[in-house]
Formats: sequence, structure tokens, C-alpha cells
Amino acid sequence: MRQKLLAEIPKMDVLLGKEEAAGAAARWGRGSVADALRSVTGKIRREILAGERDEIPAADDILREALRSLEGGCTPALRPVINGTGVILHTNLGRAPLSLRALEAVRDAASHYTDLEYDLTRGGRNSRQAHISKLLRLLCGAEDAIAVNNNAAAIFLSLSALARGKEVLISRGELAEIGGSFRIPEICGESGAVLREVGSTNCTRISDYRRALGENTGAVLKVHAGNYRVEGYTEAAGAAELAALSREAGIPFLYDLGSGVFAGLERYGVDEPRIPEVLREGADLVTFSADKLLGGAQAGIIAGKAELVGKMKHHPLYRVLRVDKMTLAAVEATLEEYRDPSGAVQNIPTLAMIAEPEEVLREKAERLLGMLREADPSGRLLLSAEPCSDRTGGGTAPLTDLPGYAVTVRVAVPSGNIKDETELEAALRNARYPLVSFLRQERLWISVRTLLDGDSERIAEDFRALL
Ligand SMILES: *Cc1c(COP(=O)(O)O)cnc(C)c1O
Repeated sequence: MRQKLLAEIPKMDVLLGKEEAAGAAARWGRGSVADALRSVTGKIRREILAGERDEIPAADDILREALRSLEGGCTPALRPVINGTGVILHTNLGRAPLSLRALEAVRDAASHYTDLEYDLTRGGRNSRQAHISKLLRLLCGAEDAIAVNNNAAAIFLSLSALARGKEVLISRGELAEIGGSFRIPEICGESGAVLREVGSTNCTRISDYRRALGENTGAVLKVHAGNYRVEGYTEAAGAAELAALSREAGIPFLYDLGSGVFAGLERYGVDEPRIPEVLREGADLVTFSADKLLGGAQAGIIAGKAELVGKMKHHPLYRVLRVDKMTLAAVEATLEEYRDPSGAVQNIPTLAMIAEPEEVLREKAERLLGMLREADPSGRLLLSAEPCSDRTGGGTAPLTDLPGYAVTVRVAVPSGNIKDETELEAALRNARYPLVSFLRQERLWISVRTLLDGDSERIAEDFRALL
């Protein structure tokens, strides 16, 4: 029986002889088409041998499946997505979109030779960090600063360069998991530093740190609670007292700010530590991401005492973790925006989204609502504009709700491909312009805060195509 079924699988020359196969071979090459066909027939063969299959699909169906996989393999995996979640720094969606100025800087750096490591005044070698160090010195009052691949790398390099083989004091309330496999205790272990926990989950006082100080203490590390909060009866040692204690003990005080901001987001309810202030309070080094509330490209900044930053620059890991010219261009251009704080809020998309007034969001939602109604002339959907609650995301201000607006959708007349909101959500995710929205209260929600220029038109076009 199995032998008979196996013999019925269409032969390769029959499959390749089909007209559609010839068309596909002209596009992708005969070898790729044959490989795709073999992968489909191979799967059928395995299913027969495992007793999971008792009939053979038609040759045309086999061909169609092979061509589908070929086409799927050619869709770029990294493509623009519309963020309808209302989460501004959505890590799965690539965090911060860049400002125009940063985009132009990236394009210029990528398409030309640059003075990346060249001093045009003197004519000779220079540090690739010179550009952004200068800006960071100005913006946060640090003696020196460098950028590495991301903030995880910044912490890793700091601990490796300053505390290998020595104890690092960290509060038990700050032994956080930042995401994926990145946990403070583990990164500490990997760097060669020895984690010395102090205090308790909810309360760690300066006296706890003082008691843990010893011969082999290499550093004090404070980690900002980026993606969680300890609430209720809590106490934590502040930056100023940790700085004083570290100075007394002659060891560096590192403060991982996670996101960190330069200034001025508290009026929107976003209360994250301010970088210049933490340095003024005496932190020897701060580390923060460049693609969180800063609104730039993926990078981690280490800023602070020149002597300590110097140790990083000369550490072998620095070369492993160094950033490329496109990232440097994007981060530098983003930092340039901050020299004019009101310009920064207008021009850096992350800040502009945070600062968007509720009234403007309501108008934006009503405009999208009108466009979607037009795309649904027969009224298959129940559409409305409603208040919603947005977030900064990306491990920042975890408790802050930003009052926003969304278009909500209900499927009123179920039909073929779209029977309910769950199917609509999936269809929009797989549409020409993939839209990431969310389901709540049996409705599909598209928050307008995170829609960029032209997104409303794209969403309307996909609705029209689906309906
Ligand atoms: C986000 C975050 C990190 C990791 O930053 P990446 O740039 O994502 O590597 C580290 N520490 C804190 C407190 C964070 O919030």
C-alpha cells in the first residue's frame, strides 16, 4: 500500500514540465524551483512512510505549494510595519523611528566616505567617538562619553573594564530582568564581576551598602527600574548618597539609567531619571539606550568621568562592541536636535508622539474613522473613535498612561475571509501594509498616536482591499 502511494508521487520532470513551473524557473532559476518541489514531495513521502497520509495531492497543488514557498522566501523579513498599538517604543517593532535629520545623516554616512576616524583639521587619525563625545559633554555635562552597540553592551563593558574579579554592590530590589536573556545578575557574572547583593527586595538603605563594603569591592551599581515598579513600603538609596559613599571608599559608582532623558518629559507624566542631574549628583558613570526616550538609533551610551571612559576605550571588548558609522551618524544627528530643546520635541518622532495633545489625537482618530467608513460603503464594519490609553513602552515609565485616541472596529456582517475581529486583526497584519493593532473588549483597536505620516491612507487602502 505504501509502496503504491510512493510510486504515485508526481515525478520531477512532470512537475517541472508544467507551464507555471517554466514561468517560475525564468524568474528564480530552474534549480531553485526544483529544490522547492523536492521539499514538498519529500514532505509527502515522509508523511506516507509515517502512515499519516493515504492520498497524493494533484500535481498542480504540489506545484502551487512549492511556488508559494519560493515567493514567501523572497519577501524581505525586515519591512515597514504600521504601529497601531499606541506603544511608542515597541521593542518588537524596532523602538524609535528616526528624525528626518538622523535619516539624512545615515544616508550620507552610508553612501559616502566619511571622516569617521579622521581629523580633517590636522589630517590624521582620530577617534570615531569624537563626534558624539563632544555633543554628550555639552548635553549632559559628562567629562567624556562613548557609544557601544546597546545599553546591555554598555553595562557589560563597564563591569568588565572596572570590576572584573571584584565585588559589585547591587540592591536586591534592582536585580531585574530587562528582557530575553538579559538579567542583571547574569550579565554581572558574564563580565567577570562578582555580584554582592545588598538590602532587601523593597528596602535598601545606604547603611546596607556601607556594611557590604570591603577590601574586594570594585564598584557600586544602581539600576533604574525601567520595566517594573516596587510599590508600597519601599526605600532605596539615592544617587547622591551612593556617590558620596563610593567616593569615600575610592570605588566608582555606576548608574544604569535604562532610558534616561535629558530634560522636560515630566509634564507629560513621563518621569525617568534625568541624565545631567544624575551626573551632577555624583554618578561616576551613567549608561543609557539611544533608542529609548532619546529617540535615536540602537546604541548604548556610557558617559561620565574621563578616566573611567578611557578605561573602556582601551578594553579589548570595546572593539567587539563598537558601533558602525550609520549608527554614529543617527545618534549624532539625534543629539544635535537636543541643542534646541523645543526643536527636539517637534523633530524627534518619539518626543513628538509623547507630546501630542489629546485634542490633536482625537482629530487624527476622527479623520481615520472617516477614511475607514469610506472604505466600507456597505457597512460591514461597526466603526467608532474612542479614547484609549497609550504607553511609552520599551522599558520606560511602566506606570504612565498617556491619554490617547483610537479607531475601534467590530465586524457587524461576518463574511468569507473575515468572520470576526480576530480574523480581521490577522488579515490586517498580513495585508500589503502590515498593521499591528490590538484586540480588547471584542473590538479591534487602532491607536492613532503611533501612526506616522501616510499610515492612515495605507490602512484605508488595505481596508478597501479586504472588504
Ligand atoms: C532597556 C534597558 C536596558 C537594556 O538596554 P538595551 O539598549 O535594550 O540593550 C538595560 N537596563 C535598563 C534599566 C533598561 O531599561
